[in-house]
Amino acid sequence: MPRITKNLHEGLTLIHSSYYPRQQSVLHPRRHQALLGIGGNVGDTIRRFERLYLFWVKSPYITVVETSPILRNPPFGYLDQDDFYNALVTIQTNLTPIQLLDYILRVEKRFGRKRSFANAPRTLDIDMIFYDQRKVDKPRLTVPHPHWRERDSVVIPLQQMKGIPWSKRHL
Ligand code: ADP
Ligand code: MG
Repeated sequence: MPRITKNLHEGLTLIHSSYYPRQQSVLHPRRHQALLGIGGNVGDTIRRFERLYLFWVKSPYITVVETSPILRNPPFGYLDQDDFYNALVTIQTNLTPIQLLDYILRVEKRFGRKRSFANAPRTLDIDMIFYDQRKVDKPRLTVPHPHWRERDSVVIPLQQMKGIPWSKRHL
């Protein structure tokens, strides 16, 4: 059962649930570290985040290092929809950035994502915010994720994370 921890300004709420936030000891380190942003606003999003965590713990492709608390925040762009829930997940992987993108798009599909229009309601959106200290500028992939600095959904959960010195270098 999620526990509300903090009401921030302007309708922003930080929520603690079973697996968000959480730090995980890594037994088998992988070569690369990435920060993934997860979001959704259809149905029981917090429950979907919990299922995603358990799915990732079993994944042969990525190792979860840390999760942030969940930020509940109002929609932007298309306003006639429910509040969004967002969290960050630090992972380790041996996948390249493009392989990791293909992997996260497959996971979105598995968790029921249907693409409709920009900023539309979604069951699960997974974005790659950082990948090591790398800059990627390809038609299908921009890393660091553009606009991450302006997004409450990234900046606020990031401030709550413990093991972020590697990603802080982007600040
Ligand atoms: P958004 O997340 O911007 O609301 P989508 O989730 O529908 O939109 O993403 C559309 C496309 O964005 C993806 O198919 C992917 O190719 C591209 N993309 C570019 N950079 C990234 C990134 N850093 N993380 C995730 N997707 C990205
Ligand atoms: Mg996306």
